[in-house]
Amino acid sequence: MTQRQPLAVSDTLGPTDAAINEVVAAIGRASSILAVCHVSPDGDAIGSLLAFGAIAKHLGKPCVLACADPVPEMLQFLPGVNTIVRRASGPFDLAVGLDASDPRRLGDLFARHAQADASTLNIDHHITNLRFAAVNWIDLTAAATAEMMVLLADHLQMPLTRALATSLLTGLVTDTRGFRTNGTSARVLQMASRLVQAGAPLFQIMEMTLERRSVAQIHLWGRVLSRARLHGRILWSDVTAADRQAVGIKENGSDAGLSSFLASALEADVSAIFVERNGKIEVSLRACPGFSVSEAALALGGGGHPLAAGCNIEGSLADARRLVLAALDNSLAGQGFPQPFFDEPA
Ligand code: 5GP
Ligand code: MN
Repeated sequence: MTQRQPLAVSDTLGPTDAAINEVVAAIGRASSILAVCHVSPDGDAIGSLLAFGAIAKHLGKPCVLACADPVPEMLQFLPGVNTIVRRASGPFDLAVGLDASDPRRLGDLFARHAQADASTLNIDHHITNLRFAAVNWIDLTAAATAEMMVLLADHLQMPLTRALATSLLTGLVTDTRGFRTNGTSARVLQMASRLVQAGAPLFQIMEMTLERRSVAQIHLWGRVLSRARLHGRILWSDVTAADRQAVGIKENGSDAGLSSFLASALEADVSAIFVERNGKIEVSLRACPGFSVSEAALALGGGGHPLAAGCNIEGSLADARRLVLAALDNSLAGQGFPQPFFDEPA
């Protein structure tokens, strides 16, 4: 990637107007845009990507929407999802990364265009963001990148169509696991209310993205959960290629729900799921409030949020387990404090 001075680096903890103005200016300078979300896309990645496409269209800018991996089955209901491509040839003069803290999470597509003449824009909400672009808009207070897309759409005074509202609400719902995570602020709930008012089908989004799964997936969970083991207060298990074969799962679906479920164990502060896939191990980490897994993920070349992070490890399941459990032991030492529900007695 060519070295450029960042035009704007914003770790937004207050008003976001300056950062948004830089983003709008970067889009304004572009004549042809490539927008890319992260590999193994979740609802926030795809929801934000579709929302960015609508925003670019509103600004009259041609924009190709891309993701290196296929859109998962549970997100196929999103309007416009069939416009997302896996390859794009360009030329583009702006490459936009969405919901990714590290450019490697955006796949070759982003790297190729970022190395060519394209300028780069990084829109994300992860604490581990590497500020890899020319313009970086990083809002650590946002529960989802989709929340930042709402701010951008509002800034541009865009009308909220039903399709746009559905994409945005899907991002909010999935990254907050149905408004249950600690990032679920009053702002998120107000936005969600507006998006429902604009026609976004909240119940169906919750059903499709959080509730429904195939029988094969339920069988997979049964196998994986029955093997869960405690290492200190870390509850871990793995998903092997043989597990997927045994239950008849072929697609690269997400196993993120498994690590959240393991973290619900009373005996655990942290959970880890090791997924054998495409010749490497994908690691999904979750922490209970008061603990953080983002430092360990970053140390292993990955990233994420304090309570949900991940990384990819080259090697066997046993290698990954050894590395990750050691990194977690190291980073969790000294962590943990009581989490009062209220600062003061009610
Ligand atoms: P999940 O466990 O749901 O796949 O990921 C949890 C969080 O960690 C998400 O915000 C996701 O974007 C991030 N994450 C997962 N794997 C990686 C990785 O390999 N690199 C980086 N930078 N972030 C990751
Ligand atoms: Mn996200």
